[in-house]
Amino acid sequence: RTLALKDPALLTDKAFVAGAWIGAPDGKSIAVTDPFDGALIANVPDLGQAVVAQAIDAAAEAQKLWERRTAKERAQVLKRWYDLIVENADDLALILTTEQGKPLAEARGEVVSNAAYLEWFAEEAKRIDGDIIPGPNAGQRIMVLKQPVGVCAAITPWNFPNGMITRKAGPALAAGCSMILKPASQTPLSALALAVLAERAGVPKGVFSVVTGEAKPIGLEFCHNPRIAKITFTGSTGVGRWLMKEAAGGIKRLSLELGGNAPFIVFDDADLDAAVEGAMISKFRNAGQTCVCANRIYVQESVAAAFTERLLAKVSGLSLGRGTDAGVSQGPLIDEKAVAKMEEHIADAMANGGTVLTGGKRSVLGGTFFEPTVVTGVTQTMKVAKEETFAPLAPIISFKHENDVIAMANDSEFGLASYFYAKDMARIWRVAEALEAGMVGVNTGMIANEMAPFGGIKQSGTGREGSKYGIEGFLELKYVALGGM
Ligand code: ADP
Repeated sequence: RTLALKDPALLTDKAFVAGAWIGAPDGKSIAVTDPFDGALIANVPDLGQAVVAQAIDAAAEAQKLWERRTAKERAQVLKRWYDLIVENADDLALILTTEQGKPLAEARGEVVSNAAYLEWFAEEAKRIDGDIIPGPNAGQRIMVLKQPVGVCAAITPWNFPNGMITRKAGPALAAGCSMILKPASQTPLSALALAVLAERAGVPKGVFSVVTGEAKPIGLEFCHNPRIAKITFTGSTGVGRWLMKEAAGGIKRLSLELGGNAPFIVFDDADLDAAVEGAMISKFRNAGQTCVCANRIYVQESVAAAFTERLLAKVSGLSLGRGTDAGVSQGPLIDEKAVAKMEEHIADAMANGGTVLTGGKRSVLGGTFFEPTVVTGVTQTMKVAKEETFAPLAPIISFKHENDVIAMANDSEFGLASYFYAKDMARIWRVAEALEAGMVGVNTGMIANEMAPFGGIKQSGTGREGSKYGIEGFLELKYVALGGM
């Protein structure tokens, strides 16, 4: 597959290690394909554990010099990287859509809105302020320094192949850390394109490396190599749990952004049109393949029929197709496994009394295209309500009372995003405080931006990305006791 890029150098089939573009020593590679039709885009190196260890050694050397640069110098490099991403957004979007499938406009939105994390953390680099605290007696002062944790390993998923990288690399590099990134094997080309631009922006050799290849050996090296201080991961709860166990030996710092099971609640005092719009964005963006997607839609009985009718009207306006074609709002799902999960959840709902109002089956487009689906008559015990579907399936559950819906919403081991629509101020406070989630969208279906702390509680993970809090996970506090004053 050839891509019509303005700058063809952004598409590379080499990994980026210690400032060099390399293949695997044994020539092994992994195929990257277009989920639209399975066509081969490129073969990227399957590097193996030994090369990853070399990348870590280089990152450790580079980190010592990088942390000694002034905050302003680090900020300037990050700002240049940001500028280059924005300048090349069209090409980056095309690479993203080709390997991931989402509509081009969405891909471009991902690229630009997440590049903003580099801009934000370039600014924050200059505000890594310490603290002076009065001492316990007249001759003492307490000084608090903030220092980089050291070499960081990042592992990112396929659903935001571009955006998940800048929100990790931004705070790490701003803090004075170096980073070795392992992108998802389905979507490494966006990561490599970002590395091309990092190099052009003047990120020093070894400060940012991208290693491609089979996940497990790379994950093991990250977890066991003593030079890795921190692992930052976005992906499934299962892999997050595994990383936590493996990294326990070295007491490594971890930031984990894992699965969710977001409730989306519509109360009887809500603006229904706004709620429908929010549900469409939160549920069907990226074909339902985001960790903050509405997974369970709870609607208060008295407005359930009206909400459902308006939602169906909007869903019928979605248009499936190739992400690069104009007017397309939903691309293919990432793979057969994703389709199988959606089918399993629909079958389970139907077997237990649910009704498919629209969709419910694969699209005539074939491949991994699936019709956007709305199911009603859903109950709390069905798979759609218990597990993250990660697909364009909107299950509607009706409820009577506020207390009931809060209990149902919180009845999950996950606690990432949550949403609700209401107008009554007292209710807004009550519900926002009661929901067990790291993020609550009130009268909005879009919550992620570089100025806000993104992250989950319970088994949805630990740590925050974005905002002034996002850099803390890349810093250690050092307390200096000043005596003899
Ligand atoms: P998904 O089911 O969405 O693909 P995963 O958690 O499997 O979610 O994948 C997220 C990222 O984690 C990807 O980059 C994947 O390659 C990586 N990954 C999966 N298993 C491991 C592992 N054992 N060690 C390190 N990374 C892994």
